[in-house]
Amino acid sequence: MAEIIQGRTGAWEAVIGLEIHAQIISRAKLFSGAATTFGAEPNTQVSTVDAAFPGMLPVINRHCVEQAVKTGLGLNAEINLVSVFDRKNYFYADLPPGYQISQYSRPIVGKGKLVLDMPDGSSREIGITRLHLEQDAGKSLHDQHPTLTYVDLNRAGVALMEIVSEPDLRSAEEAGAYIRKLRSILRYLGTCDGNMEEGSLRCDCNVSVRRPGGALGTRCEIKNVNSIRFVMQAIEHEARRQIELIEEGGTVEQETRLFDAAKGVTRPMRFKEQAHDYRYFPDPDLLPLTLDQDWVEALRRALPELPDAKKARFIADYKLSPYDAGVLVGEQASADYFETVAKGRDPKLAANWVMVELYGVLNRLSLGIERSPVSAEALGGLVDLILDGTISGRLAKDVFAAMVETGKGAAAIVEERGLKQVTDSGAIEGVIDSVLAAQADKVAEYRAGKEKLFGFFIGQVMKATQGKANPALLNDLLRKKLAG
Ligand code: ADP
Ligand code: MG
Repeated sequence: MAEIIQGRTGAWEAVIGLEIHAQIISRAKLFSGAATTFGAEPNTQVSTVDAAFPGMLPVINRHCVEQAVKTGLGLNAEINLVSVFDRKNYFYADLPPGYQISQYSRPIVGKGKLVLDMPDGSSREIGITRLHLEQDAGKSLHDQHPTLTYVDLNRAGVALMEIVSEPDLRSAEEAGAYIRKLRSILRYLGTCDGNMEEGSLRCDCNVSVRRPGGALGTRCEIKNVNSIRFVMQAIEHEARRQIELIEEGGTVEQETRLFDAAKGVTRPMRFKEQAHDYRYFPDPDLLPLTLDQDWVEALRRALPELPDAKKARFIADYKLSPYDAGVLVGEQASADYFETVAKGRDPKLAANWVMVELYGVLNRLSLGIERSPVSAEALGGLVDLILDGTISGRLAKDVFAAMVETGKGAAAIVEERGLKQVTDSGAIEGVIDSVLAAQADKVAEYRAGKEKLFGFFIGQVMKATQGKANPALLNDLLRKKLAG
């Protein structure tokens, strides 16, 4: 949703397009057989191709092409059966050949779309302009020596997908939702691990401002932002900066900026280079890449169920709200976990236990759901005990806490701690009688019209039974006793 930003001279809106570099999950690089393991000793994963030794020739890695096509299919995008690798020429110490092999005018994937799930449960479509294959560069190490810079070429030649969005995003919040959704799709597909801390997903943010609905303004590009939180902060700051600049009579220059996370500001890095500065031309070492339509169709048929389809199914089959369904399908592992708990049980109760109690614990312990201390089967066992009336929902929370702590099953804990719900009406009546006898004046007040006291009596009986009285039964019996 367009978000209005109030300036000194009236309303503005931000326009945002993202370029995301996603590292392809592949054991070997895009054009060489060198390994890609993260965190290896510097320069131990470098082939003569990556180091640009004279006469070495690139050979395309079929697996990386497959990963790019799968991603294109997952983004509902056109797959181009013919695409071309170009050289993007520039000089830098971490780029031994003096050019990056990339795709320019003929990328492997064309127009697609991505559905944003907004926090209020609504959704919005964002255009994907293209996805192309390219190599990563090496890395300059400036902090290893007081006066020298070292170069680590392990990353040189690693396969990247650059995924470019249309300038369809209108707020920092939408940009955050876009990255989360894209990352979720990439992870479902197994084409990128989406790990921003390790740099496998990096984001360049293009930001401009305009009067609401007006013509597009000049954009600035903020390079290499490496967390969703920073992307959102960088966009907020950059939009403000541009509005203030224009309102003071200045003009926005198209430039490349850097986000300073410590200060929360963007600052200029260089004037934006134009495509012609790179002297793009088709790489003479590589033939155009041609794909077989049948091969593409086979990949399409083999795609897993993706988040949007899963969300729609969760809403239809389990009657979940769009918001709950959206949260649960965010990760494949949590969707699977939920389905195991929900199977043959009340799905809403299952969703509630996963999203409130389980997520609460996982958050507190900083654990992903794959490492949950309570398995989906075990949580299912607890939900069964609630559904068959063995324990009340309130006691179930204590049982769950004990499951997290001890790793034991729900039934064992209920048995061990004697938490079984009291459903014997005679026993409950006995406790009610003694509570009412001890609170004779309150009973008189209640009967004189102070009906609020009902909750007080319930509390007293629950206390006396350590929370084990069946709530519905207690309610009934108490009402009768107080009436009589
Ligand atoms: P470049 O190579 O110059 O960075 P790309 O075509 O790779 O150009 O990427 C352009 C990015 O900028 C896209 O994500 C696009 O949506 C975005 N963009 C284009 N115009 C604007 C604009 N006026 N405001 C914000 N973003 C824009
Ligand atoms: Mg770009």
